[in-house]
Amino acid sequence: MVSKVKKNLGELEKSIQGSKARLLPVTKTFGPELIFEAYQAGYREFGENRVQEILEKKDKLPSDIQWHLIGHLQSNKVKYIADFIALIQSVDSEKLLLEIEKQAKKAGRIIPVLLQVHIAEEENKSGWDAHELLDWMRQGGPSRFPNVQIKGLMGLATYSEDEVKVRSEFRSLADLKNTIAENFSFPNCRMEELSMGMSSDFRLALDEGSTMVRMGTAVFGGR
Ligand SMILES: *Cc1c(COP(=O)(O)O)cnc(C)c1O
Repeated sequence: MVSKVKKNLGELEKSIQGSKARLLPVTKTFGPELIFEAYQAGYREFGENRVQEILEKKDKLPSDIQWHLIGHLQSNKVKYIADFIALIQSVDSEKLLLEIEKQAKKAGRIIPVLLQVHIAEEENKSGWDAHELLDWMRQGGPSRFPNVQIKGLMGLATYSEDEVKVRSEFRSLADLKNTIAENFSFPNCRMEELSMGMSSDFRLALDEGSTMVRMGTAVFGGR
């Protein structure tokens, strides 16, 4: 029998077919058994939003899994993930970058990151403001972090039924990515990824050029 997870993944892959995006299963709150079903379906990258949860699950699952941190990261926790994390998607400040730089150097590796941009209306969602990020680029920000590889941008849209609003937020993130790519050049900063869209709004994100949709409930069911 085909598992529910595998079936969901198959259907979701069909709906993103033809877009530039890949599907990142988000495994927060789900146990190793369910995650392993996605692994068996061929997935190797998974998103988690808490450091503690990655650490707990990592040792119960195959070692070739590439873990992405997608939730808010406190500076004092970077040290626990520095030697293995595949991508930190939620870099919302220069202060956090300073700590990632320090821990990357210590671990003897370059840590790939996305910069999280605040595109939603809700104030509780974190991230750089577009203006702040452009200023930082103008001041040569990335060059101060040689052990960090900036691979693109991540954003969360307002949780809303208003498609016009959500779409315009995704579009503003896509525009910002293009502006950065066209105007700035640093060896450790390449605008390859545009991580946007979750279970409730991924179709709009795909329309606006997402390269990675982060999906939990649509894959594994309700939390
Ligand atoms: C939980 C989470 C997701 C996935 O949300 P679903 O609604 O379950 O698809 C995506 N991005 C972030 C940052 C999350 O914390």
